[in-house]
Amino acid sequence: MSKQYEMVIGLEVHVELATKTKIFCGCSTAFGGEPNTHTCPVCTGMPGSLPVLNKQVLEYAIAVGLATNCEITRNCKFDRKNYFYPDNPQNYQISQLYLPICRNGHVDIETENGIKSVRIHEIHMEEDAGKLIHDDWYDASLVDYNRSGVPLIEIVSEPDMRSAEEVIAYLETLRNTIQYLGASDCKLNEGSMRADVNLSVREVGSETFGTRTEMKNLNSFHSIMHAIKGESERQIDLLESGESVIQETRRWDDTKECSYAMRSKEDAQDYRYFPDPDLVPISVSDELIESILAKQPEMRLEKKKRYKEEFDIPEYDINIITNSKHLADLFEETVSLGAQPKKVSNWIMGETLKLLKEKEMDPEDISFSASHLADLIKMTDAKEINSTVAKEVFEKIFFEDVDPKAYVEEKGLKTENNEDLLLEVAKRVIEANPQSVTDYKSGKEKAIGFLVGQSMRELKGKADPVAVTEMLKKLMS
Ligand code: ADP
Ligand code: MG
Ligand code: ZN
Repeated sequence: MSKQYEMVIGLEVHVELATKTKIFCGCSTAFGGEPNTHTCPVCTGMPGSLPVLNKQVLEYAIAVGLATNCEITRNCKFDRKNYFYPDNPQNYQISQLYLPICRNGHVDIETENGIKSVRIHEIHMEEDAGKLIHDDWYDASLVDYNRSGVPLIEIVSEPDMRSAEEVIAYLETLRNTIQYLGASDCKLNEGSMRADVNLSVREVGSETFGTRTEMKNLNSFHSIMHAIKGESERQIDLLESGESVIQETRRWDDTKECSYAMRSKEDAQDYRYFPDPDLVPISVSDELIESILAKQPEMRLEKKKRYKEEFDIPEYDINIITNSKHLADLFEETVSLGAQPKKVSNWIMGETLKLLKEKEMDPEDISFSASHLADLIKMTDAKEINSTVAKEVFEKIFFEDVDPKAYVEEKGLKTENNEDLLLEVAKRVIEANPQSVTDYKSGKEKAIGFLVGQSMRELKGKADPVAVTEMLKKLMS
């Protein structure tokens, strides 16, 4: 009988904080921009320049720590992590090793066996590196320091996860917690949230951990799931054939669906950490913690509870809507503008999710305004437009945030409510289609569908199909 294995997984998650300026200088953190335009002597590591901590970074880090049940380190400091690589202009990264800002927390995740607590070892603050662009044409590597000095927090979990599903649940919980706090948009595909997966396998029942590898370059939940599956199988195969797993950093190749060794794992001592002498130690006051606690928003679990009490919408909808701060805000704002909750939820769960999926967009990318959705719902309720037109207008709102009132007016999409016109069209259609009329009168209910379709066509789709059906029935009775 073959042996039973289980996986042991711990994550190191980097999150780019949503500050306007970098961690130690006043340069912009905006994504993109011409290379090396968001730079200054500090973030390009010029000799003699001095870093100054951006207070907002500290506040976001503490907010995330409090929301993940961490202890806040009252006296903390920064350390230099020394390594030589061209994306790192100082030849060291300013990070925290000895006294990270948050420690000993936990995140509760929902699994198929109920709530499980994943412990957080620490959260530390650090700066991001620049970006290397390898240009084959010129046979050269170019560097862009716009990202250098963008603030990051690194959230290090204990090796508490046992399956890919638990990893995804943990990441989703972290992501929506941080999004709710407004501390980051946490987009995996743009790199504002990046997860390194540490994975080992062991025989079920074993008390000790196996040797782990660390996988980098995972930029979607899809690739994380696949990487975990691929790497656990690779490790089990090694053990089964009597070989051993080597502790190393591996790179996941999403297209080839396999990982390959990048470098052997380095230890803390390889980085020759030492306290950064250019930055003063940080002392976190009670007042600071209290002011951050006072600003903590309603988190997802509380929101879910409140939605259940306040709105008559299915639990399934509540789960999806509250999983994204942006969707939840959109929902609440639209409802506050007078639209019926169930209808708002239908537009979100239906057309919105459909278009997001089609365009491979994240809910955080939605840019239309709640007031336009509210107006659309009101226009449908008032039967000013029919449901087919409403869907067409919604697409315009979704992509271009058009004002539905103006758009419907301009394109002449208003429902034709003119009774005389409906009567005239219905009469004409009945006259032109005697066979359908006979069929209908002889009991073939379905035959009316054809007559409705013909009438709608004559009315250029702008009538209320219910009203048209009634008119036809009246004439044929
Ligand atoms: P290092 O300092 O070498 O990076 P850490 O102890 O900080 O190592 O652990 C890094 C990550 O690896 C943590 O998220 C931790 O939970 C995880 N980890 C540690 N040991 C194992 C193991 N045997 N199997 C899986 N994950 C592990
Ligand atoms: Mg580590
Ligand atoms: Zn700068």
